[in-house]
Parts: sequence; C-alpha cells; structure tokens
Amino acid sequence: MLASKLPQVGTTIFTRMSQLAAECGAINLSQGFPDFDGPDALREAVGRHVMAGANQYAPMTGLPALREQLALKIQQLYGRSVSANDEVTVTPGATQAIFCAVQAVVRNGDEVIVFDPCYDSYEPAVQLAGGVCVHQALRLPDFSIDWPALEAAIGPRTRMIIINSPHNPSGALLSADDLERLWKLIRDRDIYLLSDEVYEHLVFDGRRHESVLRHADLYQRAFVIGSFGKTYHVTGWKTGYVIAPPALTAELRKVHQFVSFTAVTPLQWALAEFMAAHPEHLAELPGFYQAKRDLFCSLLAESRFAFTPTPGTYFQLADYSAIRPDLDDVAMAEWLTREHGVAVIPVSVFYQNPPADLRLVRFCFAKRDETLREAAARLAAI
Ligand code: PMP
Ligand code: GLN
Repeated sequence: MLASKLPQVGTTIFTRMSQLAAECGAINLSQGFPDFDGPDALREAVGRHVMAGANQYAPMTGLPALREQLALKIQQLYGRSVSANDEVTVTPGATQAIFCAVQAVVRNGDEVIVFDPCYDSYEPAVQLAGGVCVHQALRLPDFSIDWPALEAAIGPRTRMIIINSPHNPSGALLSADDLERLWKLIRDRDIYLLSDEVYEHLVFDGRRHESVLRHADLYQRAFVIGSFGKTYHVTGWKTGYVIAPPALTAELRKVHQFVSFTAVTPLQWALAEFMAAHPEHLAELPGFYQAKRDLFCSLLAESRFAFTPTPGTYFQLADYSAIRPDLDDVAMAEWLTREHGVAVIPVSVFYQNPPADLRLVRFCFAKRDETLREAAARLAAI
C-alpha cells in the first residue's frame, strides 16, 4: 500500500455537496459558481480565436496582451505600476497559482499561518512543500484577525502568512489598518505573504477592496492572486494570475513552468480582448452582485435563518440555530439538501478545530434571480 502524502485529505466539500445536490435534484447554492453565463462577447471571442488558430502554447508567463491588461487594471484600481513582463504571470486558475507560490517559498519544516475558516487548497499545498500550517481562528462574529494571537503565533519558523480578502466563506474584508498592522508584524522578519484576492471585485456598500497591491511595503513580500473565473462568470475556464515583485515572480515561474508550463491560449486571447473592449465590466460587478445579495437577503429575512448581509464575495453565511440546533452543520447541510432541496456548504469543514457551537452554513448567491427566489421560498418554508 502506498503511504499517502495527504492522509487527511478526502474529496472536497464542494464536490461532495454539488454531487449530493445533483443526486437529490436540489437547488445548488453550495459550490461557488454562477448558474448564468459570462458575457456573450467574451464567449464569442473564444470561438473566434480557436477558429483563427490560437491553439498552440501561449508564452510560459502568459500572453503579453493579457499581462498588459492586468498591469493596466492594477494601475487604475490600486495605483501601483507593475511590470507586465516581470511581475505578472497568468496561470491555469488561482488554485494553481496558490500552489506554485507556496512551492516557491515554503521549505521543509517551515510554518505557514492560515486563518480559519480557511479555503481548502492552502493546507495541502503547504504540506506537499514539506511545511506545516499553523491555524489561527478568526474572531466571531465578524471574522476579524485576533492580533495578539497572531503575534504570538509568529515564530522563527514562520515563512509565510496566507490572507484572503474578501474572505471565503465569511465575506469579511481586511481594512487598510489591518494591512498596516500585518506589515508591522512581518517587517523585521523573513516572512512572505500570499494574498488570495480572487473576490477583489465583489465588495459591497461602497467599500473599497484593500488590495495588498495598495501597500508598497507589503507588496515587496507578496504574491497577490486573482481569478478570471470569478470576475467574468467563467469559473470553468480555470484561468488566474499572480502579481508579485520581480524576484518573487522569477521563483514562482520556476515552479509554474513545470506544474503546467502555461495557461490555455484562446481563453487568454479572449480575456485580453474583452478586458480592453469592456473596462466597464469591472466597475459594474459590485453593483451586479450587491443586487443579488440584497435580493437573496431580503427573501431570506422571511425565514428563521439569522444573518448579517455579507460585505463581500458571492457567499452569504447564515445561522440556523433557530431551526435545527440539534444538528451540526455537516448534518444540517445534508438535511437541507435532501429534505428541503437547497444545497449549502457547512462552515466547520474550513476549521482545524471548529467552535463547538458553530451553527453556520454558506449560501452562494451567484445565481439567476429566479434561482434565488425559488431557493429562498424553500428556505422560508422550513
Ligand atoms: N481562492 C478562493 C478563496 C476561492 O474561493 C477559489 C475558488 N473558487 C479559489 C481560490 C480558486 O480559484 P480558481 O477557480 O481560479 O482556481
Ligand atoms: N471556491 C469555490 C467555493 O468556495 C469552489 C471551488 C472548488 O470546488 N474547488 O465554493
């Protein structure tokens, strides 16, 4: 028998819940993906580029036209001038980007601080690099960083800290003040930052996304990760990117070129073309998803779920204590899917040590309005 390198890993909760939703014919508000398509012009462009012959390897670092569009966006949104050649790398998905950044930095015995609830791909990446995750629970109910605990967790073996804002699953946002505090903690140490910003455009109520790209000092230690899948409603395209200073980018690319070498060519052409032709897409995105959040929350207010409207991402957490306090959240997710036809994600699976009384499930509201109405009607009837 092969001794597993990842003995604690099974099939992800996203796959399990999506499968159960399909089996039960439930409305799938579990795994995060839209049930509507990306823009017509974007999809049409892929077909056109495929037919025009954009079917061989793209450059290892990404198509220059797409890297330039990313550099332009970063300049416009975050006021940072990055080199499209030396600081931008296109990857097949943010997941691969995260994996490569971790492999580039983490060595045997290194510690990586992650915040629970924590996205599921971080820890396996760290373990395969020979590192160990040190889990810091975010403070409830607002999922903010426990600064004294973080400071105490940083030690001589800490090599990386992974942050995620807007945060999956809670939607919590880091503030400019948070980034400054983080900088003060790592400034005099050999610690790198992985900033997972795949929901960078999904920030609501007029707040702004505090990208690490806005913080000149932090950026010098950082890999900032993005995903076209979230931003253009095409999660199945698995196309993402990493922004990092030249020396870090060089190390990241050494790994990337042997994990996948490059990302899918016609998708990159289509994305570059669409970004250039439709800059308004980014500006419209917060309003588009805020309207969905508001619709879903107004309908969910008719139910016995308790919640605060999420400040970011396309996920809404809700407390079900008033409905089935007897069920843990994994059992609750299964019960909702089987008995009430709405699939959700339990939150405890994103913890090393979940709080015993956690009664939270995650709904994905990246859905057509009619899907949200039908799901909310089922939830309100419980
Ligand atoms: N990070 C977070 C926090 C996510 O929620 C997701 C995606 N679903 C990813 C990374 C991965 O993105 P991608 O699909 O581009 O690999
Ligand atoms: N990030 C998506 C979510 O949080 C899932 C992506 C996946 O299934 N790996 O739902």
